[in-house]
Amino acid sequence: MKSYKEDFPLLRNSSIAYLDNAATAQRPEAVLKAEREFYEKYNANPLRGLYQLGMDATDCYEKARETVRDFLHAKKSSEIIFTRNTTESINLVAYSYALNNLKEGDELLVGIDSHHSNLLPWQMAARVTGAKLVFLDCEMDGSYTKEAIEKVITGRTKFAAITHVSNVIGRVNPVEDIIRLVHKNGGVVLVDAAQSAPHLPIDVCAMDVDFLAFSGHKLMAPMGIGVLYGKEKLLDEMPPFLTGGEMIESVTRESAVFAELPHKFEAGTVNGAGAWALKAAIEYINSLGFATLQERELALTTQAMEELKKIPYVNIIGSQDPKEHNGIVNFTVEGVHPHDIASILDGAGVDVRAGHHCAQPLLKHLGVFVTTRASIAFYNDEEDIHRFTEAVKGIRRMMG
Ligand code: PLP
Repeated sequence: MKSYKEDFPLLRNSSIAYLDNAATAQRPEAVLKAEREFYEKYNANPLRGLYQLGMDATDCYEKARETVRDFLHAKKSSEIIFTRNTTESINLVAYSYALNNLKEGDELLVGIDSHHSNLLPWQMAARVTGAKLVFLDCEMDGSYTKEAIEKVITGRTKFAAITHVSNVIGRVNPVEDIIRLVHKNGGVVLVDAAQSAPHLPIDVCAMDVDFLAFSGHKLMAPMGIGVLYGKEKLLDEMPPFLTGGEMIESVTRESAVFAELPHKFEAGTVNGAGAWALKAAIEYINSLGFATLQERELALTTQAMEELKKIPYVNIIGSQDPKEHNGIVNFTVEGVHPHDIASILDGAGVDVRAGHHCAQPLLKHLGVFVTTRASIAFYNDEEDIHRFTEAVKGIRRMMG
């Protein structure tokens, strides 16, 4: 298997097996170079300066937007809003769309597998508008059945916030079916693509999704740059989320005329270097192709799950089929707390995540309190996985 670690300075200069990729990915050289290039060659405040350097900075920022548009197969770059991360993108929609469109008697549907970032904004929206928060519950393997979907989506469902790929289970949810049914009932859908954007090609037009959010840092771009896609018609009708500089056409003492899309939603100085480096991250992914990424992730996930399944006291959360995990392998070890597991693995040079993974309602639904998560990326290799599974095999011995 070809190793991609050479492309990643942190990995090539270290011996750790980094298996916390769902929390944040590592950055390839091309991304680090682009971030530096922005500050070395193009640094001025984007969208402001009328001098050449200012226009170059604006050009970088808008080229990045066009790359994201192409990545998501959106129709127009004005439908791409740069934010800080998925959390901010979802809050933008909760504050700007939900608060202005939901009312008492409406239902706001949320998947039980939501990350807290795709739950708390909707709890807030329900509290403020009087709409009822309704949950779409999954089976014990994490799947949403057709019956559950059809039962919970009704004419009252005015908004649905659905996760594309859960950060706990890793399964791809049937978002197209949910979107179709919510639309048939006159509602609007947001898809949280934080965990899908790094692993699957996304086509917002084919999905017919209304809003879609993802974070740059999970797909190898710097921290602090995120994306919200929204259908132009909806974004046009929404008031700004944050107000201030950059997002105006003109201002008087009493009021302001807001800028056109997408700038209406990008108040204050933007993350020019982050956007430029996000462009580099997407180009890096495109140069490899999702088929390559998926093939490697599946091979490594299969290796990890096959080895873990041999250990009688280990229980893998969700489906037992590696094809349904997108690199996420979440597990419990009978009688051992995940914090102890993570510390023991750290001692063996393996980085994993332990805890509730910002998805407490899901864990409660699945009957577990806390778990350990290994999340695999294409730049991991068999040696990383071997070290991880061997360390798990030794855990009980270590605990005496
Ligand atoms: N949604 C999902 C499914 C996630 O996994 C995460 C982060 O782990 C988020 C949302 C929040 O992402 P961020 O912290 O980048 O806003």
